[in-house]
Formats: sequence, C-alpha cells, structure tokens
Amino acid sequence: MHHSPKSDGIEKYALLLSGIIIALIVGTAIFASRQTAVSVAEAETTTVPTVALGDPTETIAVTADFVEIAEATPETILTVTESSVSTPVITRVTPTNTATATNTPTATYTLTPSNTPTETPTSTNTPTSTATHTATATYTPTPTPTVGPTQDAAAGSRFFELPILMYHRVEPWPEDAGELREGLTVQPDMFRLQLEYLRDNGYEDISLYEMQYALTQGREIPEKSVIFTFDDGYRDNYEYAFPIMQEFGFTGTLFLVTEFMDEGREEYLTWDMALEMHEAGWDLEPHTKTHASLTEHNHDYVIYEVLGSMETIKHYVGYQPRFFVYPYGAYDDDVVQIIRDIGFWGALTTKRSLTQSIHYPLERGRIRVSGRDTMQDFKNRLAPLPTPTPEGDGVDE
Ligand SMILES: [Zn+2]
Repeated sequence: MHHSPKSDGIEKYALLLSGIIIALIVGTAIFASRQTAVSVAEAETTTVPTVALGDPTETIAVTADFVEIAEATPETILTVTESSVSTPVITRVTPTNTATATNTPTATYTLTPSNTPTETPTSTNTPTSTATHTATATYTPTPTPTVGPTQDAAAGSRFFELPILMYHRVEPWPEDAGELREGLTVQPDMFRLQLEYLRDNGYEDISLYEMQYALTQGREIPEKSVIFTFDDGYRDNYEYAFPIMQEFGFTGTLFLVTEFMDEGREEYLTWDMALEMHEAGWDLEPHTKTHASLTEHNHDYVIYEVLGSMETIKHYVGYQPRFFVYPYGAYDDDVVQIIRDIGFWGALTTKRSLTQSIHYPLERGRIRVSGRDTMQDFKNRLAPLPTPTPEGDGVDE
C-alpha cells in the first residue's frame, strides 16, 4: 500500500480508500462475470469531481487509479457506488469445423483371390496343374457367347421343335422303390412301348453333335428328330436300355459320373460297358467326377469336377467331349462361364423345353421322362404346348 507522508488525515483517507478498493476487488471477484464500473460519487459534505476508477472492463486499472484517489484532498469523503453493471460481453464464437468430412475412403479394399480350393478333392488323381482357370477379382462376362462350330448367316434364326429326352434308370422297379426311385426308373416294358411310339410316329434319333451342326450350319436332319440322353451312367443302361434301343436301331448319349466308374461302383457302368456302347454308336459325355452340385462349390472345385470328368472321357474316346449335363440341373453365371471356357458346345439342364436353337446353348432344356408316366403322359410330354406335368418332375438324382 502507498503511504503518504503529507498528513495523518490523508493517511486516514488513504486507509479508507484502500478499504474501498479492497472491497471493490472482492466485489469484482464475487461478481466475476459482472465487471463493475466504479466511480467516486458525492461526498457527504463536499462535492468532489467524480473520479473514474479506470476502465470498468479492466479490473487491473483500479490499482492505478487508487494512487490518484489517495492524493485527493483530506476533506473529500468518497462514496463508491456501483454506477453501472456493464453488459456482459458475449462473444459469439463461430464454430469452425476443423474436421473436414471427405467421401474418399482412405483404405483400399483389395480382393485377394485364393487359388487354393477350400475343399479337398477326394480323388487320388487331383489335377493340381491342369486347371487353366485362375480366380480373378474382376469377372468379365463374354458379351456374345459363341460356342460350337462356325455359325452361318442363318444360324440365329433356326428354331427346331426337337425333343431331347432325359432318362436316368431303365430297369424293373425294386420292391421297396419309393416314388422318387420310381420316377427315376423307366421299367423295360414301358421303355419299349415309348420307343415303339416314337418309331411309329416318324421320329428318328440323332446325336447332340448332329443337332449342333444342323443349328449352326444348316446340315440336314430328319424333320422329326429326337435325341436320347441318359444321366449318371447307371449299369442298367447297359443291361436294359442298350439292348432295347438296339432293337429299334436307336443310339443315345450317356452322361457319365467318371469317378464313380473309376472306383468301380456296382451301381454304375464299367468303362468296358461304356466303351462297348460307344462302339455301337453311343456318345459318352461328362456329368462331373462325383455328381457335385456345382453351385454349391467354389470356382476351382467346379473346374476340377467338370474338367476332370471331361479329360477322363477324352482319354477313353480319343476326342474332346463337347456336351455336358449339370448335376441336379444346378448352374449359375460362374458355372456357365467355366463350361464355356472349357470348350463345351452345349450344356443340358433339367428345364423343360422342346425348342432348340443356338441361343443359350449352355442352358438347353429337355423333356424329362418319368418312370411313373403312363403312355398318355409320355405323349403329352412330346406335345409342343406345356401340359400339366405328372409326378416325378423336379427330381434329378
Ligand atoms: Zn445326374
């Protein structure tokens, strides 16, 4: 505190002022948010000039002003009043977004294709180096798929009503056969009746290859052509279907599950049986190695199943098979692309269709023949218009 030696009176007032100032400081502290403009007002007896105690917004100024007040006259009785309360200054702080949102992902998502099938093939002849397809992250479909022999100018406009008949087993029904087995099994007597009907109604059998050349290059085929296909390569095809077909001079196409034959399963043809039928004019074509549902397996495994069975048959017949049947009729875009890349000219489904063309050659429809069909059912199946289908459809063993 400043001490003035001038007189005791001054010292007394100075003491008083210092008390006031202390009170002001305390007040300022109490009203922290209220910065007080302090002024020296009227004395009780003497009018003195109002002395501003500094900038009301700056508390520190009070100290400086105190010196001047302390040097005021002894008569001055100062009363300090709170003359005003300054309006609190509200500083509007405009928020600044320093974090700038961007839509550009910083992380790069990279698809890492795995060339290793997650399923381990059970065959001892695992073709680890024969798969020519490499899984890639970018799938580029072929815009205009063209398969098979060179197409002439009229190829796109050829549409044949040409039934491709789909059989599985031909044998007497086992005693315990349920509906499923009966549907898959055409009994020999009924099979013979069906062939008689076809012959008597002018049908002539052709092969899938003959159909392909007729569609693509206009080669002649009988007006009423029919194609016989037998899925899975059951041994009864050799024991029953083969001799009955020979009675009529018909041949067909066997779609073989090659690994079942390699394993010598009794239910399936031996290679000797299949080759004997091939010598008699039948075509041998692949139906995968183990009858796997191709839509339920990864890319590399599908190649293994399809290419493996194709190569096996190629080994036996000496040329590359060009037709394929999807097990269970199951396929998707990836499967079809693999079939195309391997070089097949046609792939057959279980969908019903009488019409054949070069369009969608890898999704050809067929005419299922159920073992539960009556002769009238069989005739209805050959009719151009869709008819109510008897029981047994939708099943492909
Ligand atoms: Zn099958």
